[in-house]
Amino acid sequence: MKKLIVAIDGHSSTGKSTFAKAIAKELDYTYLDSGALYRAVTLYALEQGLFHENGEPVTEQLTKKLSHIKLAFHKDPQTGENHTFLNGVDVEQEIRSPRVTAKVSPVSVIPQVREHVDKHLRQWGEAKGVVMDGRDIGTAVFPQAELKIFMTAPAEIRAQRRLAEWHEKGKNATFDEVLENIRQRDHIDSTRAVNPLKQAPDALLLDNGSMTVEEQMDWFKKIVKEKWDITLK
Ligand code: C5P
Repeated sequence: MKKLIVAIDGHSSTGKSTFAKAIAKELDYTYLDSGALYRAVTLYALEQGLFHENGEPVTEQLTKKLSHIKLAFHKDPQTGENHTFLNGVDVEQEIRSPRVTAKVSPVSVIPQVREHVDKHLRQWGEAKGVVMDGRDIGTAVFPQAELKIFMTAPAEIRAQRRLAEWHEKGKNATFDEVLENIRQRDHIDSTRAVNPLKQAPDALLLDNGSMTVEEQMDWFKKIVKEKWDITLK
C-alpha cells in the first residue's frame, strides 16, 4: 500500500497523541508529535531566562537564538517510543511539566518559532508513512495530507482527563488550574495570526467527549475501510 501522511489536529488535551500513536502502530507508521517541538523550544527559553515578568517570551532574543536550538526525536530502546531531544539532551519528561505547559502557547505564537519547527516537521514528513499531531498540520504544515482528523471535546472533560493524568504522575494541580490552562491555550492557539488552530475543510471531525480510546479506534478503522478499502485488525 502507498505510504501516506495522516494529520491529526485539534484542541489541547483531546488525547491526540494517544490516538495518533495507536494509529501509527496499526499502520506501522512513524508517529511525530509536533507539540513536543514547541515544548522543547519553550524549555530552552525557560532555561535561558527568556521570559518577561508578565510571562510573555522575550521574542527578539529567542528569535536570535533559534539557530542554537537543535531538535530531534530518537527512539527509546526500552519502550520503542520517540523521545524528544533538545541540543542532544533527552527532555521528554521535562517538556511535559506544568511550567512548560503554562508557557508553550505564547512561545508558539512567534512566527519565527513556527518556521523553525515547521522546517523540521516537513523534513521528517517527506518520507511519508507518518502520523503527525498538532494544531496546524492539516492546514499549514501538510495541507496535502491524505487523511486529516480534527479532534475536540468539551473543555471540562479535557481538564478532568488531564488532571487524572497529572495526579497519576504525581504532579500537583487543581481542576480549576488545569481548566484555566486549557481555555487559555485554546484561545491563544485559535486566535494567533500565523497558522491558527482550525479545522481544515477536508478534515473529519472527531468529538471524543464521550468516547473511549477503543471506540475511537473503531471509528478510525471504519474510515480507513470506507476511504481505502483497507481492513485493519
Ligand atoms: O500538543 P501539545 O499540547 O503538546 O502542544 C503544546 C502547545 O504547542 C499547544 O498548546 C500549542 O500552543 C502549540 N502547538 C502549536 N502547533 C502545533 C502543535 C502544538 O502551536 N502544530
